Amino acid sequence: MERPVPVPDAATAPYWAAANEGRFVMPRCTQCGRWHFYPRALCPHCSSEKLEWSDCSGRGTVYSYTVVHRAPSPAFAAELPYVVAIVEVEEGPRLMSSVVNCAPETVRIGMKVRAAFRRVADDTQLPVFEPA
Ligand SMILES: [Zn+2]
Repeated sequence: MERPVPVPDAATAPYWAAANEGRFVMPRCTQCGRWHFYPRALCPHCSSEKLEWSDCSGRGTVYSYTVVHRAPSPAFAAELPYVVAIVEVEEGPRLMSSVVNCAPETVRIGMKVRAAFRRVADDTQLPVFEPA
């Protein structure tokens, strides 16, 4: 069974395109200067439409996590066990991702992480995080 991959839409296409280039980006409001994630049409802080995709530092901390021991589908069975985490990036937003390149039992809340990329298809890289 093939692993499911993201299907970009108008709101998320810039995020996935940047990830395929090895760049970690998020929407930033040019009116108030704040970042947000997930992508949306208006700034959630000031309701401005003046948003732009900007490169992030890639630095963050683990806000919460779980270790998955039972695959949600056969496509993920080969990856067990793996970490699903909420990462708070230095710019402020939190996103769900994975923590890779370390033993799952070493992951902790507050752990410093940095963005990395994992190729899951010829035309798809996922932003993930690894210990900083
Ligand atoms: Zn704003």
